[in-house]
Amino acid sequence: MTSALPSTSPARIQGWCPGALQPMRAEDGWVLRVRPPLGRLTQVQAAGIAALAARYALHTVELTSRANLQLRGIAEADYPPLLAGLQALGLVDANVRTESRRNLLLAPFWQVGDGSTEMAQALAQALASPQAPELPGKFGFALDGGTTPVLRAGSADVRIERHGADWLVYADGSATGALVGAGQAVAMAMDLAHWFVQAGGLTGPRRRMAALLASHALPARFATTALPFVAPYQSPLGRVPQGYLVALEFGQLPVATLAALADVAPMRLTPWRSLLLEGVQSLPAQPALITRTDDTRLRISACTGAPGCGQAAGLTRSLARKLADVLPAGQTLHVSGCSKGCAHPAQTLTVVVTTTGYNLIHHGNAAAIPDVTGLSPAALAIQLQERAHATPL
Ligand code: SF4
Repeated sequence: MTSALPSTSPARIQGWCPGALQPMRAEDGWVLRVRPPLGRLTQVQAAGIAALAARYALHTVELTSRANLQLRGIAEADYPPLLAGLQALGLVDANVRTESRRNLLLAPFWQVGDGSTEMAQALAQALASPQAPELPGKFGFALDGGTTPVLRAGSADVRIERHGADWLVYADGSATGALVGAGQAVAMAMDLAHWFVQAGGLTGPRRRMAALLASHALPARFATTALPFVAPYQSPLGRVPQGYLVALEFGQLPVATLAALADVAPMRLTPWRSLLLEGVQSLPAQPALITRTDDTRLRISACTGAPGCGQAAGLTRSLARKLADVLPAGQTLHVSGCSKGCAHPAQTLTVVVTTTGYNLIHHGNAAAIPDVTGLSPAALAIQLQERAHATPL
């Protein structure tokens, strides 16, 4: 296995995601992502990542919306020993092809014996096989094995949901799917991935399933069963049957906090930038941990911004923290360093940092046409305060 860095940075190739074997160059050094098998870290793995990040990366590990861990600020000379450390922890795939395809989101509330982890392992094996289709880097699978789906808002192209005694396999963006037994679900999911390629999904600007469905009808075998309605899912925090859920502001996990949590229990990563500590009923006090759903820090989000991202026109997270104080009750806010808005495609109150001031979008993502442009920090705060008085939420 090579530990050489790519000779050119693929940072701006559309549809590409970094991995441990394929790091990405950013303004503040190299960025790599760890995809823990089944989205789970043993205590040894968690402690090992904390130690590696403390030595070779920025001292904050980032939780991503695909339930991965991101390490950034890595110097070129530190990449080989960091990769070797991750490999020793069993957190790196055998090769780039396997790593880039194992894009699998597993609902974190699985229980031993409910079949979820076995199905996830079978799907990972199928994706690693030579017969698996070549899929775009962002193409992913979601496996939702609880009695109620919790991953519908998560990024995925092929979805597998428990449906009574069977499993519903469906394409993202479709209102119907194929209802099959547990033994056929993985094969059906791979069938859908093959269809995506054969139908031309690799061409075009988006290269995602929902975009393909706008112009192509699914085969009849994926139209046998209507998707049941499911209300938008809001993750709890604190005690859950499987343990204790904690969130982090902006998904930023200080290495000292990760090391402290590693002493407590194994942990599962969630797509909600939180961690589920297995079998735990209470936690030692850690200021970085958010344990209540009414915590204001959960209502703000921000992309990396400057100085980590070369496309950012300024700081994002410090601005989001300041604006949280004047945010109307119940209102969420996203701050984006540019109009690309890569960290938050959903529509909400959005501030975009530009070289000529702050643009405000009342309800949209960062790419939307701004409602107000060129605001100073003070004018921006006033706009939000006025909104608090004008908008009953
Ligand atoms: S949205 Fe943020 S992180 Fe993404 S490219 Fe723009 S500034 Fe960079």
